[in-house]
Amino acid sequence: MQFELVVRIRHMTDERKNLVGLSRADLAAEMTALGEKPFRAKQLWHWIYHQGETDFDKMTTLAKPFREKLAETHVVRRPAVATVQTSEDRTRKWLVRFEDNQEAETVYIPEEDRGAVCISSQVGCTLTCTFCHTGTQKLVRNLSAAEIVGQFMLARDSYGEWPTPGPQGKDIGGRMISNVVMMGMGEPLLNYDNVATALKIIMDQEGIALSRRRITLSTSGIVPVMKSCGEDLNVGLAVSLHAARDELRDVLVPINRKYPIAELIDACRAYPGANNARRITFEYVMLKDVNDSAADARELLRLVEGIPAKFNLIPFNPWPGAIYECSSNNAMRRFAKILTDGGYSAPIRAPRGRDILAACGQLKSASLRAPRKVGPEPAA
Ligand code: SAH
Ligand code: SF4
Repeated sequence: MQFELVVRIRHMTDERKNLVGLSRADLAAEMTALGEKPFRAKQLWHWIYHQGETDFDKMTTLAKPFREKLAETHVVRRPAVATVQTSEDRTRKWLVRFEDNQEAETVYIPEEDRGAVCISSQVGCTLTCTFCHTGTQKLVRNLSAAEIVGQFMLARDSYGEWPTPGPQGKDIGGRMISNVVMMGMGEPLLNYDNVATALKIIMDQEGIALSRRRITLSTSGIVPVMKSCGEDLNVGLAVSLHAARDELRDVLVPINRKYPIAELIDACRAYPGANNARRITFEYVMLKDVNDSAADARELLRLVEGIPAKFNLIPFNPWPGAIYECSSNNAMRRFAKILTDGGYSAPIRAPRGRDILAACGQLKSASLRAPRKVGPEPAA
């Protein structure tokens, strides 16, 4: 395991407004407020999200006086990176620190010729799924759109993937950071507005230009928001099901008491854009002797009947203090076979980044694992 401490100089007293995270319309309004023409917003957008530029002075298509004026009032800023760890399997985890010193984690999971960034939507999570480390974190707040897009941008910084690869930034694949999964800390549909603004920025063809087909949002089942997510964003949906019966799901995913399985399944059936080419992923964490019996698998098949679905079986990732164990390999294989025999894809996901606690459900900011002394940060 490689451990690297990164301390960037913080702009504690910097009151300038960050341009990252503004929607296109808000960026145009910002330019109008400065007495500039709205097309300046288009130019700036290109510099910020296509080129990845943070220094106004290098934005050479903008007139010098305008660059100078902008630099007085505005910045293009990513969140700070407190630490970076790279796993034996090349998974990389950033502990990201925001301006109020709250922290969240971002993870990059490389594959052969591509890779996904797993982005957090909240500091902590208000939901208390009993198998999830993030759910034990007390401090919770929503991340802003800037903090959400900023996580993607700092991953690109880290791999030097600017400007946006491909002709005119067209999403033709072949990128190191090719996919986004909203599967980090927090429940994205409980911070929907900021998540939607951030994902629209990430999908914009004149900037980061990541196709909606390369984005998956994972929810524990916030039923009333699922429809808007499909209609406005049309991104792939993953649903953290984890149990086929309400009595068990009430315990594992307590939000089930508010939105029980039948309502959740109805919302999946109605999810706009779900079809055979774009199936809904049902995530299912494998917990020994809890939800891994053959009867559970058969119940699942009955539940998802008629939905364009696939399964993602996640071996339980342990964390300090967890009360569950991961199912045996035999139990997982038996479970997967029942689902595949039923006609569904049901891979058992290989855990990634376990040695740096970067795997699903292991995220929890280090500040809360190991309380630090409060004091000024060391200068870089
Ligand atoms: N809050 C959202 C997204 C983040 S969690 C949600 O719950 O869907 C991403 C996935 O990891 C979810 O399916 C979650 O249930 C799963 N997960 C949480 N803790 C886990 C653990 N300890 N081991 C394996 N998977 C876990
Ligand atoms: Fe929150 Fe998702 Fe963890 Fe549940 S599994 S506590 S919804 S982050």
